[in-house]
Amino acid sequence: MDCKMIRINLSTPICLLEITSCTNGLHTIKRIEQSFNQKIYHLNDTENIDNKSYPKSLIQAFNWFRQYFDNNYGQPDLDLYDLMKNNKLLCRKIQLTNFKRKTYLELLKNIQYGQCSSYSELSKMVINNNHSARAIGTVMKNNPLIIMIPCHRIIKKSGIIGKYAGEEDPMKRWLIEHEKTTTIKPRK
Ligand SMILES: [Zn+2]
Repeated sequence: MDCKMIRINLSTPICLLEITSCTNGLHTIKRIEQSFNQKIYHLNDTENIDNKSYPKSLIQAFNWFRQYFDNNYGQPDLDLYDLMKNNKLLCRKIQLTNFKRKTYLELLKNIQYGQCSSYSELSKMVINNNHSARAIGTVMKNNPLIIMIPCHRIIKKSGIIGKYAGEEDPMKRWLIEHEKTTTIKPRK
């Protein structure tokens, strides 16, 4: 069965995101420079988005970003680790190597909102030693779901923030600062 893809653009305080999804799960979340001939959703367009017959995973992602960028929210409610573990986050058509999958799972499980860790620490979580720091870097660079899979929380051991998606990029620091400065209100 082929994937029937839906693509939306979402404006956020730091960038314009393109989210693609089919009914089996998300395909990609990436940053785009500009949107051509396509409506741009904003984070408060909840009603608009709920009224469309979009795939569940697309609506989930939208709501996740709405909570994520809310300065008074903190870590969004959706349990991404659990979804990923049960193959409900990414569409099953997207094949990940075991190493990649394990890396994203360990990242989602262990490095929570507002925290940072290093490539070698994550390597220890994945393969019980720090020999794969470089490979971890490559996995971060090829993250299919930016921000949602929080590759921005992985920085250099020295504390230097390092590259984002393979390049020097102010967005990584912005995301880290955003998570650190969000006033997390107690949930009911
Ligand atoms: Zn699909």
